[in-house]
Amino acid sequence: MGIYTEEELLPLSLIQHFLFCERRAALVQIEGLWEDNLFTVEGTHLHQKVDDDLPVESRGDVRITRGLMLRSFNLGLSGKADVVEFQLVSEGGTLSSLIPRGLAMAIPLPSVSGFWRPYPVDYKRGRMRHEEGFEAQLCAQAICLEEMLGCVVPEGAIYYGKPHRRLAVVFDEVLRAKTSDAARRLHELVNSDRTPQARYEKKCESCSMLSVCMPKVTGSRRSVKGYMATALANVT
Ligand code: SF4
Repeated sequence: MGIYTEEELLPLSLIQHFLFCERRAALVQIEGLWEDNLFTVEGTHLHQKVDDDLPVESRGDVRITRGLMLRSFNLGLSGKADVVEFQLVSEGGTLSSLIPRGLAMAIPLPSVSGFWRPYPVDYKRGRMRHEEGFEAQLCAQAICLEEMLGCVVPEGAIYYGKPHRRLAVVFDEVLRAKTSDAARRLHELVNSDRTPQARYEKKCESCSMLSVCMPKVTGSRRSVKGYMATALANVT
C-alpha cells in the first residue's frame, strides 16, 4: 500500500503542468480554471484520434492497449494512458529474471502465451523535443504500471505529432527521483490551497492560461478569482 489513499489521488496530467509552471497547475486544480489555445486544441485532437482507435490491437509481437486507467498510491496520481504496448520478450515457459528491486522483467497476459513487457507511449503535438514535464508525466505512467502489474518498466516513448516519430525515454534513477519529487510537491501545493504568485516569463506567451492568469497584471500572491472579485467590487 502506498502513502496516499484513493480519495487523495490527483490527475496524473498535472505533473506536466506543475513542471511547466506551478501557478498553472494551481489554476487548473485549485481554482478549476482551464483555457484552450491552438496548442492545447491540437493536442486534444491528437489524443482523441488515439482514443478513437481500437482499444486493444495485436501487431505481430506487440499487443497495443489504448485508454488504460493507471494509478499509483506511492505517487498519489491517477489517469489514463494514451497507449501501453505489451511487447513479447519470451514465447513461453517461466520467466525467472528479476531486477534488484525484486520486480519481474515481464508479465503473462490473459488468453495468450508468453511474457510481455509493458511500454507506455504518450502522444504530444508539435515537433520533437526534450521537455522535462513530458518525460516526468511518462515516467509517472511507468511507475503506475510497475505498482499495478508488479514488473519493471525501464523505458517508454513520446510520440510527436508533427514528425510522426517517437522519442524513447529511459526511466533512470534521476528521472524517477524528479518525478516522485514533483508528485510530492504537487500534493503540497494542492493541500496548501494557495495559488502561487504569477511571474511573467517568455514561456507565458505559449501558455494557454495566459488570458486568465494575466501574469503582467496579477503579479501578486492573489488568486485569479480573488483578483476578479476585487476588480468587480471596485467597479460597482
Ligand atoms: S501565463 Fe505564465 S505565470 Fe501564468 S500560468 Fe502560464 S506560465 Fe504560469
